[in-house]
Amino acid sequence: LKSPAASPVLRLLVLMVPCGSEEVDEAIKSAHGAYLKWRKMAGMERARVMLEAARIIRERREKIAKLEVINNGKTITEALVDIDIAWQCIEYYAGMAGTLAGQHVQLPGGAFAYTRREPLGVCVGIGAWNYPFQIASWKSAPALACGNAMVFKPSPMTPVTAVILAEIYKEAGVPDGLFCVVQGGAETGTLLCHHPMVAKVSFTGSVPTGKKVMEMSAKGVKQVTLELGGKSPLLIFKDCELENAVKGALMANFLTQGQVCCNGTRVFVQREIMPQFLEEVVKRTKVIPLGDPMLDGTRMGALISKPQLEKVLGFVNQAKKEGARVLCGGEPFVPSDPKLKGGYFMSPCVLDNCRDDMTCVKEEIFGPVMSVLPFDTEEEVIRRANNTTFGLASGVFTRDISRAHRVAADLEAGTCFINNYNISPVEVPFGGYKNSGFGRENGQVTIEYYSQLKTVVVEMGDVESLF
Ligand code: NAD
Repeated sequence: LKSPAASPVLRLLVLMVPCGSEEVDEAIKSAHGAYLKWRKMAGMERARVMLEAARIIRERREKIAKLEVINNGKTITEALVDIDIAWQCIEYYAGMAGTLAGQHVQLPGGAFAYTRREPLGVCVGIGAWNYPFQIASWKSAPALACGNAMVFKPSPMTPVTAVILAEIYKEAGVPDGLFCVVQGGAETGTLLCHHPMVAKVSFTGSVPTGKKVMEMSAKGVKQVTLELGGKSPLLIFKDCELENAVKGALMANFLTQGQVCCNGTRVFVQREIMPQFLEEVVKRTKVIPLGDPMLDGTRMGALISKPQLEKVLGFVNQAKKEGARVLCGGEPFVPSDPKLKGGYFMSPCVLDNCRDDMTCVKEEIFGPVMSVLPFDTEEEVIRRANNTTFGLASGVFTRDISRAHRVAADLEAGTCFINNYNISPVEVPFGGYKNSGFGRENGQVTIEYYSQLKTVVVEMGDVESLF
């Protein structure tokens, strides 16, 4: 919106200015104007534009990934994966744009009805800071495929790459304003949720903010998708392939410096294999290359902000006070490179001696802190794993195929990973149970969250009136 294309510095300054009611209103109105054109286009035409956007992202993946590193602090290796998942998501929904269809229903006397799958209108996307480009793509791709427009607000911590996505959509040929970015924090988000021309709000963020978004949306009877926080359990049985389980636990805890909603931060390990598990997990955690996120060899970058770093370190201290033992990490980390001295780095932490009632086991930390808990039986660990208000993800490592599926069925979470963790292919639905939210992103089902059904009833004879 109003971004002066000439100077990158000026553009960044514009990005920092929060949008007030005038800009929000302007963005929503321009999105609505674009929606009226976009919805009339055939699905195949929309698909072509979206495929072009996906192609441009693929072509510029390295540049966008570097910007994402600056935006967020995650490593270039992970940022490249995020960008790849983003264009795959746009390709996936482009493929679906031409398949949207209704149903034909035969009625008595030659009458019939049919259903039309129609867009909702202007959808709002509000994003968290941990996957800025990917969240903007996960929300906009199904929205646009269904014929909607989207006004997207990134987190004020990571304002940059959503704007790149907007520029790419425009370059690919979407009508002006179809995907608009507004900048700002809670106030701007509130304006978006209250705006009468908005049909739906898709929100990614914390549980307390999600509740507010739902409340505001309820006032205007707007549809809502909530992708919220988690405190997911990872169950490691003694019959597992231990090396894979250790790798899975690391993947479940340390991606994006541990700032991942679906992380498996409560790692339940069957007592018989606890010593071997801890030895191996600590050995590998201690050698995770930490530092300059732009280097290919780095595996952990910086946390998002000083308050976030302080909050995570505070959780580690609290855990110690409550009786947990720090097996490694949990300290601020100062890289030797002087240009990185101001970064919010922290050494990845493994805690044992944990109990279910500890703060580090109950609350979402959103940092690189793994809490390890022993268990004895399947029945016991399922009960303990489900004893949380969250329900985003879960995982199980076992070689016993029956147990794997039995446990997956009993865990109260939107996703269960069997013998792996934290893989998010765009073809499969992602979303929460319980306080982790509702609605889904990715997969075929998300079309239903960005469209509505109209029923058309057709009479072929005379009207039989009772009057
Ligand atoms: P947050 O709730 O603080 O902010 C999320 C977004 O909401 C930001 O864009 C923020 O500016 C906006 N916002 C804040 N107050 C608002 C209000 N009153 N009205 C409207 N919008 C408002 O969350 P965060 O700190 O950015 O992200 C971390 C949280 O997000 C964690 O809890 C994490 O688990 C969750 N998360 C969930 C998923 C998922 O898919 N389930 C993915 C990533 C992050």
